[in-house]
Amino acid sequence: MSKTVTLNEDDCIGCQACVDICPGVFGFIEGEGKALVINPDGGTEEEILEAMDICPVSCISWEED
Ligand code: SF4
Repeated sequence: MSKTVTLNEDDCIGCQACVDICPGVFGFIEGEGKALVINPDGGTEEEILEAMDICPVSCISWEED
């Protein structure tokens, strides 16, 4: 079973911490002030876990395939 990183944009408060930690995976929509997943394979699992850990509203999670 594999897993893919997912981001709940409704809950995101736009702090950009995830983008700073893992810019290959997370991008930022300037106009909306929200982050999004631009490439789920753009970073290491460790970087993604760190982003999950630092996200103040815990809106980054794994989606099981
Ligand atoms: S760390 Fe969380 S709240 Fe901050 S931009 Fe990323 S997804 Fe949004």
